[in-house]
Amino acid sequence: MVIAIDGPAGAGKSSVARKLAARLGFTYLDSGAMYRCVALTCLEWGADPEQSGEATSTAESIGISFEDGDVLIDGVDVSEEIRSPEVTEAASKVAVHPGVREAMVIEQRRMIATGRYVAEGRDIGTVVSPDSPLKVFLTARPEVRAERRAEETGGDPREILVAQLERDRRDTEREHGALKTADDAVEIDTSDLGLDRVVDRVAALAAKRGLV
Ligand code: C5P
Repeated sequence: MVIAIDGPAGAGKSSVARKLAARLGFTYLDSGAMYRCVALTCLEWGADPEQSGEATSTAESIGISFEDGDVLIDGVDVSEEIRSPEVTEAASKVAVHPGVREAMVIEQRRMIATGRYVAEGRDIGTVVSPDSPLKVFLTARPEVRAERRAEETGGDPREILVAQLERDRRDTEREHGALKTADDAVEIDTSDLGLDRVVDRVAALAAKRGLV
């Protein structure tokens, strides 16, 4: 069973999903980290992230796993490498290809079938788990989202905003697994809400629906 937390970059998905999972005793799944793993491997192997065949065979060749909050590719910890700006950019490119998405979705469904999960991403409520009993779509004003990323990475908020809007466009316009709100999702604008307020709100929804 999975609580789905979807939304654009910087809307607060990771912080909310991680904290909510800890509070409810569920397992946290960072689906974006998986696309980042495919992107990192493409860059390391010299495969073109924009080339569907190369990106798909890369995705199908690697084993991605999570261990105590770390992200591993074929058993090697890549938790830090996958957060670089180059990988961030390449991740949004590999995520466009249907073959890459199919490989990731199969793996994500296999994981969430094993227990109770809070999973965050772009297509959890629409594609990975359309029958999720609680879907949340987090949003925030673009400037707020860029400001949050800048605080995390130390970059320039204006440059981050431009890059983020381009990744949002790619996520929204792609044909498969596009970023969109599921019809039955609860939308929360986190622009003016602290982390705890958002987690409280989602936890209350989970309790109301008898999930905890
Ligand atoms: O969430 P995060 O920024 O780590 O995701 C990296 C990239 O992976 C995103 O820019 C998005 O293009 C892609 N992604 C996706 N579907 C998901 C999660 C992430 O397409 N479920």
